[in-house]
Amino acid sequence: MSDIIQLLPDHVANQIAAGEVVQRPASVVKELLENAIDANATTIKLLVKDAGKALIQVIDNGKGMSETDARFCFERHATSKIKTAEDLFNLQTKGFRGEALASIAAIAHVDLKTKQEHQELGTHIKIEGSSIVSQELISTPKGTSIAVKNLFYNIPARRNFLKSNTVETRHIIDEFQRVALVHPSIDFSMYHNEKEVYRLEKSNLRKRIVAVLGKKTNEKLVPIDETTDVLGLTGFVSKPEFAKKKRGEQFFFVNNRFIKSGYLHHAVVSAFEGLLATGYHPSYFLYLTVPTNTIDINIHPTKTEIKFDNEKTLYAIIRSTIKHSLGQYNVAPILDFNRDSTMDTPYGFENKKIYKEPTVTVDRSFNPFKTEVQKNIQFPYKREKTADWESLYTDIPVPETNAAKQLFTNDTIVAKTHQVHRKYIVSTIKSGVLFIHQNLAHQRILYEEYLENSTVKEAISQQLLFPIEINFSKDDIKLIKEIQSDLVSTGFLFDKIKGETIVVKGVPTTVNESQITVILEQLLDDIKNEIPDTSFSQLDVMAKSMAKSMAIKTGIQLSTEEQEDILGRLFACKEPNHSPFGKPTFISMEINEIDKKFGL
Ligand code: ADP
Ligand code: MG
Repeated sequence: MSDIIQLLPDHVANQIAAGEVVQRPASVVKELLENAIDANATTIKLLVKDAGKALIQVIDNGKGMSETDARFCFERHATSKIKTAEDLFNLQTKGFRGEALASIAAIAHVDLKTKQEHQELGTHIKIEGSSIVSQELISTPKGTSIAVKNLFYNIPARRNFLKSNTVETRHIIDEFQRVALVHPSIDFSMYHNEKEVYRLEKSNLRKRIVAVLGKKTNEKLVPIDETTDVLGLTGFVSKPEFAKKKRGEQFFFVNNRFIKSGYLHHAVVSAFEGLLATGYHPSYFLYLTVPTNTIDINIHPTKTEIKFDNEKTLYAIIRSTIKHSLGQYNVAPILDFNRDSTMDTPYGFENKKIYKEPTVTVDRSFNPFKTEVQKNIQFPYKREKTADWESLYTDIPVPETNAAKQLFTNDTIVAKTHQVHRKYIVSTIKSGVLFIHQNLAHQRILYEEYLENSTVKEAISQQLLFPIEINFSKDDIKLIKEIQSDLVSTGFLFDKIKGETIVVKGVPTTVNESQITVILEQLLDDIKNEIPDTSFSQLDVMAKSMAKSMAIKTGIQLSTEEQEDILGRLFACKEPNHSPFGKPTFISMEINEIDKKFGL
């Protein structure tokens, strides 16, 4: 038999390598930003078009490349950063594998302009799918500009797999933040479709964090600082009272590199033990410095996971340092100057005795650390559809939909219900018994209502007496702007969205005032992380997220009317059988199944 093994041509090998290094536009952003930092740039500009699908360009004022290097940098394993395998254990640079540019050039149109300080003219190279299209001299400032256009143009399957622009932009912003947060002394800016997203001037660490994540961050930070032989630890954690329901702002950097570590994350969380309610997450920005020979960075193509020699020691130091810092920080609530001034006691009254208990109109039972915020949901819903409330006391709580007809006795659709274990609504049906999961069923109901509202464009909104101001980070604000019309179609009304603040003046009737922030935060989080799902559409994600956040939870006692209301509305749904996330909303048990259990 003839020999069959052959070496892959370079451009094929590069495309394969690209599969590991470049998963999405954000991966290109990461690699280019890191190269600019390794080139000692002090000013770095990122330009993105169409979520990076059309263009990703990084312009730096770093050391630039010679003509030969400019050509050579696109070769696989071409790097100026290491020479021997030993160098791997003394890394001072972000890159070292010499494969990023080769990979990117294999799957995009790349335009490189670069000039070193002493050169009079720079080099301009165009390369497409690993082949050089043109090379010429060019007049260009010191530094490097790399423009990556039409990413995955020659791998349609990858291109088709890219997510919506919102999602891809989110990933890009994540990468940008991870780099910007660790290099406060570098001036960074980012533009998307020619609009400025970030303008981060050279500053110190704290100011940089605040500039990246929003002004409100400043008051939330507790400084962390510890130096031992094996670990230098600096940075900040959030004060416990600012813990969030989402796991967003959590950053570990090791030797100036963003990394993910479930183990070290656990160390931080355990330091907060007893200070946070379940379901709440601290934010943290922790900068670890360890001897370069005690870590292995080369275990993952994108280098976001690394191996530590002495993980257990690091865990212990991190945990105790944070615990100590939290202890030093006065846990008493600090003054929040942005709170609603109508709730303040006028100065003169502060020390006076209260003769009469004031009547409080705010929701005193609301406690953001309690998971059951939904308790505040009012039944019956103030929806016009269910205005005919009395009818529920009579015999017809179940609408005559096909789904209902199949289940309930035809002649008189009567549903008597009971709640068991504050979780299931039990009802008799033609063939036996029905168990409805109150939370999952309500999710289905709300989900369909949101979708319906958004298509008929007549969401019922309840105006707030006092509009509520909520602060978000810049990129959350950006996201809110993008989904604003969808939010409006579910009943949210905004007065203005400006800077880092949004003013909410109306909410869907199912939303309680005290829940607004939690719901919006959850929603943004879900959109960023796209609730695992097949058909991704923003509106759908939003409807699901809101349904999930606002559905009545298990553990909550329901009156008979409330039970019947859920049952009635569930079977009026188009797809009553499943929750928006595909779980069954109810199960039925046939009488003969029950009989069998009795041996009958
Ligand atoms: P690595 O960063 O792992 O070395 P890359 O493929 O990212 O591999 O880059 C290859 C080489 O090209 C780098 O080692 C560096 O010498 C050079 N290079 C890349 N980007 C820049 C830049 N912005 N400025 C100067 N040199 C650069
Ligand atoms: Mg690199």
